[in-house]
Amino acid sequence: MAEGASREQAERVAAIARGQRFHAEIVGNDSRLAVAITGGAAKPAPQAFNMLPGVGRVVTQSSPYFLASRLYSPEDVIVDVGGIPIGGNNVVTIAGPCAVESEEQLFAVAERVQKRGVSILRAGAWKLRTSPWSFQGLESKALDLLAEVKRSTGLKIVTEVVSETTLGIVAEVADLVQIGARNMKNYPLLKAVGGCGRPALLKRGPDALLSELLSSAEYLLAAGSPGVILCERGVSGFGDHARNTLDLAVVPAVKKRSPLPILVDPSHGTGNRDMVLPLSRAAIAVGADGLLVEVHNRPEEALSDGPQALSLDDFDRLMDGVAPITAAIGRSS
Ligand code: PEP
Ligand code: MN
Repeated sequence: MAEGASREQAERVAAIARGQRFHAEIVGNDSRLAVAITGGAAKPAPQAFNMLPGVGRVVTQSSPYFLASRLYSPEDVIVDVGGIPIGGNNVVTIAGPCAVESEEQLFAVAERVQKRGVSILRAGAWKLRTSPWSFQGLESKALDLLAEVKRSTGLKIVTEVVSETTLGIVAEVADLVQIGARNMKNYPLLKAVGGCGRPALLKRGPDALLSELLSSAEYLLAAGSPGVILCERGVSGFGDHARNTLDLAVVPAVKKRSPLPILVDPSHGTGNRDMVLPLSRAAIAVGADGLLVEVHNRPEEALSDGPQALSLDDFDRLMDGVAPITAAIGRSS
């Protein structure tokens, strides 16, 4: 629909499509509506629609996603996370521990990263681990601690949801709901998160094509999500020098196809704290909209992902090290 077209005009387009026995659904939000016309035995004829009031363009789409594409939003999308804009000229750093482990650990990390300008804290409550004997997270107790740190510091919170049953309590405290790499293709979960009222941080699966990542973003947007932020966190590779292969080429590829912001997670992308600073610099240089990094007050004692956790002093060095890159490419932080 054209900019400013009304919902009634979109309804009329949908009704005409349904009259021709297509499936028609109004998607998008009130600032920009679209009518998705699918199904039917033959392709819908563009001339049946392009003269109707409110219609902007009739786009024949063979790609599996539209709302996540530049066809729908030619301009870069800025996602509002509790008042913090992600995307646009700004480069954001989201930092915090892999998992909430204790009140003391969470506050130590939160207060220190906040001092360096961080306004969104990351920390997992439920952890998806390869072995059932590994630390699984403090679960709802972690949510209580996140609510407490949010109240006392004003930091915004991103935390992962691992099941539809816990989405309600996660979305109460999370300003940004994380979908982990393992759940990128969990379509029922994507639909639920899309409807939860909070924006989503969608991590790329370790074996996911870009078209699959953007199709997963489409699930969220089609379900009404107020915003989707993508995240590259490394894909499966064959090297033994790093935990994953951080695919920085995906950043300019996303920028070409999609208006959605993309962050890079060099912590899971490398699994190695010594690689976090150089890959963070590289990520910003190739155009990432920000970083997602793991920080721990005692990395050697971390209950999950210790080898990749930056110490509090390492985090200072990270912030000092990326600032010149951000400035060199004319972005702000
Ligand atoms: C995380 O961010 O803590 C996490 C589990 O990441 P991923 O889903 O990318 O493995
Ligand atoms: Mn982790």
